[in-house]
Amino acid sequence: MPEGDTLHRAAARVGAALIGRRLVTVEGTHRAVARDGRRLTGRTVTGVEAIGKHLLVHTDGGWTVRTHLGMTGRWVVLAPDAPWRTSPGKARLVLRTAEAIAVCFAAPTVEIGPTSQVHATVGRLGPDLVDDAPPLDTIVTRARASMSPTVADLLLDQQVASGVGNVYKSEVLFLERLAPVTSPADLDDGILAALYRRAHRLLVANVTGGQRTTTGSRRPGRNYWVYGRAGRPCRRCGAPIASTTHGRHDRVTYWCPTCQPQPSASSRSTVNG
Ligand SMILES: [Zn+2]
Repeated sequence: MPEGDTLHRAAARVGAALIGRRLVTVEGTHRAVARDGRRLTGRTVTGVEAIGKHLLVHTDGGWTVRTHLGMTGRWVVLAPDAPWRTSPGKARLVLRTAEAIAVCFAAPTVEIGPTSQVHATVGRLGPDLVDDAPPLDTIVTRARASMSPTVADLLLDQQVASGVGNVYKSEVLFLERLAPVTSPADLDDGILAALYRRAHRLLVANVTGGQRTTTGSRRPGRNYWVYGRAGRPCRRCGAPIASTTHGRHDRVTYWCPTCQPQPSASSRSTVNG
């Protein structure tokens, strides 16, 4: 599943392939491409950036194409004569230069427009947690304004801070020992800041590549504390990992009911102190 670290890696790959090169054709099955793709044809790519879970390709003349990868999207870079392992009919956006082809598969969102307009869309996002020093005080302020009923929903709210998807959500809550159903209103600012500081560190540690890990081990099957491990023993206490589906989008959260107790009324008053 694409999260903030995945997007930064994709931006590096797509940028290496496209920056400084002229777009010979812009095609794809997304309706935005059919409608506006020709606006990009013939333009030179001037930059590629990842902001949260958005990937932006900028061209001369002030145009930008934005993709959001949702749950399933991905970017692939191919040599012009390389065989496609996925059917071209599934390509939502194909940016072709004389030297390389960048293809975005399965992205639910593709927008083509003036750079200023696209930046306005992205500007509603919270600070990017992959940045060097995300402003935790700003993030906590935005968290207080969020309508998210649980911390699990809060971490996925990209208007608070961007970059956390379903994997990091579960892993951050385990490492910070918080039950996913905890109400953000029951947590003080220090605990909220600690959640986002943890998410920042995990995302940054995984930007450079390889198997994504939160445990420090990059071996598949050992790389996560709780994500995807329902019914298996907690790596810390041995209790079976639980999974809960909740929130607006019915996203699953994995957690250890022993290591991540819900704050009780008494501990809550201590927390809020
Ligand atoms: Zn445990």
